[in-house]
Amino acid sequence: SRFFTLSRYPEGRPERELFELETQTLPDLAPGEVRIRNRWLSVDPYMRGRMTGVHTYVAPFELGNPMEGGAIGDVIASHDERFKEGDLVGHMGGWRDIAQIPADGVQALPDFGVDEQAYLGVLGMPGMTAWTGLNLIANCQPGDHVLVSAASGAVGSLAVQLAKAKGCHVVGIAGAANKLAWLESLGVEPVSYRDRNAQELSDAIQLASPKGIDVVFENVGGICLEAALSQLNEGARIAVCGMIDSYNAKTPVPGPSNLSQLVVRKARMQGFIVADHWKHYQFFLNEVAPQVVDGKIDYKETVKQGLESTPDAFLALFEGGNTGKMLVKLDH
Ligand code: NDP
Repeated sequence: SRFFTLSRYPEGRPERELFELETQTLPDLAPGEVRIRNRWLSVDPYMRGRMTGVHTYVAPFELGNPMEGGAIGDVIASHDERFKEGDLVGHMGGWRDIAQIPADGVQALPDFGVDEQAYLGVLGMPGMTAWTGLNLIANCQPGDHVLVSAASGAVGSLAVQLAKAKGCHVVGIAGAANKLAWLESLGVEPVSYRDRNAQELSDAIQLASPKGIDVVFENVGGICLEAALSQLNEGARIAVCGMIDSYNAKTPVPGPSNLSQLVVRKARMQGFIVADHWKHYQFFLNEVAPQVVDGKIDYKETVKQGLESTPDAFLALFEGGNTGKMLVKLDH
């Protein structure tokens, strides 16, 4: 098995050299374990949070041990009655080619007739995050004016489409022309944050949504959040999903200078972690998967080839190197 380890916790943007590709001969399968040949690996922004020595809602990666992450692969050997050779499964033994893990952490993939890797993106954790933030946290209602940052990413691109499907007016912030064009094709008002300060971004949001903003789906923080705060309507709800703008910061970043808008607009801002809402996953799938199958919901993937590309795929998330879900495809 080949797998990545982290040699040291990075400060700031992780250097490529910190990720080491190692090889080991796997021991015999223990009772209750399965061996999986991975087809797809997920890289996600939250993994940056596991690259610090600090336990947040998820434990840090252990230095020198195999890194982890969402993955999809084929069972090639099983010592657990729930799985047999040939089963296609999802699990957390990513950042490696062959995973040997307890069957308790392995799930049979749902079968809605979509590409298997969709269960790492639009129908997986990121999709569930979009659905949870919009519905359970922001209580998004038909007719709301909705603002989504990192709107062309894995989470954002579903958030904008779910909001559109509800009959909302939707503004999406993204960083590149092709991403803005995709958003526009989805009926979203596209706004670029590039080369803008918070005031300029706020002005652009106002142009795109003259009636203000009722729901913010925040993925970025930084000037995106600051600009959003100055466009809030009374009673606005802000679901704080992530703040990727600060994940590589070496020192604490200043808060938005206009946080007092929460008071003036009587707005509510709430963070959430999707794992806490996983009991709704099947409900989410039943609602969203048919729309993906019908083509009513569009999704995109950016695919890097080969296990070796995993660190670069991960690091590219912080440079906007992906449209839709960032994935690694293994070529064995
Ligand atoms: P994305 O697919 O959205 O990839 C990240 C994107 O963020 C990039 O493509 C880039 O797009 C944008 N971005 C990166 N850095 C910046 C920056 N400094 N300023 C503005 N935009 C930036 O990732 P995900 O969809 O997987 O995750 C989106 C957010 O959701 C993250 O903050 C993540 O941590 C969070 N999340 C939270 C979860 C929870 O349970 N709370 C669960 C899953 C994700 P662009 O080209 O537009 O700049």
